[in-house]
Amino acid sequence: MKMGIAVIGSNMVDLISYITRMPEEGETIEAPDFQMGCGGKGANQAIVSARLGSEVVMVTRVGDDLFAENTIRNFSENGIDTTHVLRTEGSSGVAPIFVDQQSHNSIIIVKGANNQLSAEDIESAAERIKGCKLIVLQLEVPLETVYAAVEFGEKHGIPVLLNPAPAAPDLVLDRVKTCEFIVPNETELSLLTGMPVDTQNDIRNASAVLLNVGIKNVIVTLGSRGVYWTNGETEEFFGPSLVQARDTTGAGDAFIGCFSHMWVKTGDIAKSLQTAGLYAGDSVTRLGTQTSYADALDFQSRYP
Ligand code: ATP
Repeated sequence: MKMGIAVIGSNMVDLISYITRMPEEGETIEAPDFQMGCGGKGANQAIVSARLGSEVVMVTRVGDDLFAENTIRNFSENGIDTTHVLRTEGSSGVAPIFVDQQSHNSIIIVKGANNQLSAEDIESAAERIKGCKLIVLQLEVPLETVYAAVEFGEKHGIPVLLNPAPAAPDLVLDRVKTCEFIVPNETELSLLTGMPVDTQNDIRNASAVLLNVGIKNVIVTLGSRGVYWTNGETEEFFGPSLVQARDTTGAGDAFIGCFSHMWVKTGDIAKSLQTAGLYAGDSVTRLGTQTSYADALDFQSRYP
């Protein structure tokens, strides 16, 4: 029986400088502290599913630099199949981030090798992906690669989950209409549909646009307000878990990684959404992105 998850997407290395204030133009300042962390939406989602016990294969590209070693080691340490982590000349995906004492941040995304992930790379991993029960996609790699992955899923009967993030105004909905799941946040939903998302009714109406295109399930993450799900026949608003949020970075990835894991395991959408909401809620109580994701043991003791 197919149980695995293929994440076809991005990886980044976050380079976080903690500074007392943002530098002026032309100014050099000293940062009292620095941290390096693994990130990228694809990698984050893969890490969550793998930490929870799913068999995950990551189809991605890294550069020929030191960051690449770091990323591959991190995948391996989390039990992810790295056979299809491919090398590209030049820079890995990196994100220099500046965080000041008021927690204001400036982020520069250098997509690097992620820009080179191609339809051919998907074909070269075809046999491995065909053994999976779900393909998970985001938009930090070229759109043509995303479309190719959606087509691959359709051709081989593998359900596809698309997280349309970061928001991409030029995503062609008609080319992702065969997805089983689309999981935008409110901003992405509004951008995809050109509709307001201020009220529950707005969210319902905007989601209907995505259903009308042909996508089977629309799942909208609403931050501290929870999650909305519709498949056209039923709909449900799931309330948030009431937690003291400390750092919500990567909450969306926690949600998607956990939902994917649960859905592949149980096939029960409502139950998977509920658990993913609890898992993402738990992750926002801790600082950082991948450092805030609970592992399988922790998870099972909380949500048996
Ligand atoms: P990011 O881009 O930071 O990863 P996102 O915008 O993609 O986040 P959100 O909608 O903010 O995703 O959050 C995803 C899920 O995480 C929510 O649907 C909810 O279940 C949970 N969550 C986020 N923030 C909170 C919070 N403050 N309290 C409880 N749960 C939260």
